[in-house]
Amino acid sequence: MIIKPDAVSRNAIGAILKRVEDRGFKVRQMRMTRFTREEAIRFYAVHRGQPFFDGLIDFMSSGPVVPLALERENAVSNLREIVGATDAAKAAEVTIRKHFGTNIPRNAVHASDSPETATGEIAFFFGEQV
Ligand code: GDP
Repeated sequence: MIIKPDAVSRNAIGAILKRVEDRGFKVRQMRMTRFTREEAIRFYAVHRGQPFFDGLIDFMSSGPVVPLALERENAVSNLREIVGATDAAKAAEVTIRKHFGTNIPRNAVHASDSPETATGEIAFFFGEQV
């Protein structure tokens, strides 16, 4: 998971972490960093060529982010359930994106979309140490 620049600037790190921990996740790794444009382009390489790509890169490199390595059973599906839909304005009422996000791309958090993606994304931020 990544707490995105909009949520960090809204002082929502603690509130988001509480929701995640209350859902039964263990925080295994966490740090604060800031994407360079090059790192954001590499992280979101799968979206290269999309019309929203440049805006996404601008947004993700606009301020600090908090990447986390999280652990629990069925982590990907459980996290995506409490995170909510990509467009924060349309996300379900009780979700993290509805509460802390605004729209797309300002949707408060990133959540890995499969265990394989999660492994690669965790390595991106924390190396192979997790
Ligand atoms: P996610 O898995 O719900 O985060 O969604 P995706 O992997 O499809 O997209 C990655 C991120 O790109 C999203 O979280 C948004 O921040 C952004 N994004 C996705 N689709 C759009 C779009 O249609 N327009 C814009 N502006 N941003 C988008």
